[in-house]
Amino acid sequence: MSYIEIFFYVVFTIMIFVHVRAWYFTNRMYGGLSTEIIADMFVFVRKSFKRWMLPLASIALFLLLWVFSLNSQIPIPSVIFYGCLVIGLSTFSWNIQPPTILLLASSKEESIDLFLAIKHSILGLRIVALLAPSQEKITFYMDNFRTVDDSEWRTVAYPLMEKTPIIVVDTRQATSGVVEEVQRILSYENLFPKTVFVTFASGYAPVLDKVTNKAIGKSIITVGDNEASDLLHKLVKSRISGRGIVDYDEKQVMKFERNPYLPLLMDCPITGKTFRLSLNSSVWEVSSGGTAKCPICGDTHEFNRSNTRSAPFAEAQNFPYA
Ligand SMILES: [Zn+2]
Repeated sequence: MSYIEIFFYVVFTIMIFVHVRAWYFTNRMYGGLSTEIIADMFVFVRKSFKRWMLPLASIALFLLLWVFSLNSQIPIPSVIFYGCLVIGLSTFSWNIQPPTILLLASSKEESIDLFLAIKHSILGLRIVALLAPSQEKITFYMDNFRTVDDSEWRTVAYPLMEKTPIIVVDTRQATSGVVEEVQRILSYENLFPKTVFVTFASGYAPVLDKVTNKAIGKSIITVGDNEASDLLHKLVKSRISGRGIVDYDEKQVMKFERNPYLPLLMDCPITGKTFRLSLNSSVWEVSSGGTAKCPICGDTHEFNRSNTRSAPFAEAQNFPYA
């Protein structure tokens, strides 16, 4: 055997190792995978734009085995056979691997940047989304489950929300689809405790502002977009490190405590009248304050923990918005 053959044997064997490792850790994330979720993944692939991939891989594998059966007549180097087999099986492995994270977001460029940042921080595990970006990046394409039939998105998104260990919502763009998804998440006791809401670095979350009736008084996890991938890295790592399912309340994992999502009120220092900040109470998890343009006197005021207070939505509605 030549050195070049040995080299390719090593490369393809590493590919197998990468896939086995991903399945092993995915199994831990799920606390044991079921055949049901794997069967679902086949269905989701079939509904998505990647539906040609599995039939193509099947045909390629079939042809490969056929050629192999003729091997006595057509001598092909066994390293090529080995490589084709590994690539074919990898295509299956990757496409049906259940996701560790489901990202719910609008189809804006910034959501794809968030997707890629998270993808690179979760130890080779899978993050999936259902987006329709204008320019697809190839690493994103493999994990996009956007349905071919647009009206079918709920038949993929809802079961994925149910089964995926971690849901991430990009709350920075309030499109009707994301608002609907968040309303659903906040309506189900099994969904919102496993959801991380990504806000602007300031804590501002336009989507949460649209669903205030559902968010009222609920303890939810919010994190600024600049710190989201770091938080998710810690969450995933703690779960697969052998300590089993880690409760989100564990403080050593959660730098960010869960706070009830409530509006913030401030008194104008000039007129003494009350107005509502465009931020919610979760801002205190990621920053110590900032400035707001006062809707009463028109000046810009500095706010911090000492001069703001949270209030129920019903009360906050009576005051002008900064
Ligand atoms: Zn003022």
